Amino acid sequence: MCQTVYIKSKKVECEIVSELKKELPNVVLIKNEMYPQINDGDCLCVIDLEKTFEKAGIDYSSRGMDFEID
Ligand SMILES: [Zn+2]
Repeated sequence: MCQTVYIKSKKVECEIVSELKKELPNVVLIKNEMYPQINDGDCLCVIDLEKTFEKAGIDYSSRGMDFEID
């Protein structure tokens, strides 16, 4: 089971790094310490989504591995 990000305003679900970069081009993605690097084709487990959203000032909600932003 992998982390996902659902963007409510766009009705888009992101499951891999390239999708998240496309939807949030101005957001700096912060790497999860457990992984050596971030590759475009990786699942979103490589991203520390809490830290990423907090640093970017994006409000989010999460249920387990599923994150939602506006
Ligand atoms: Zn994963």
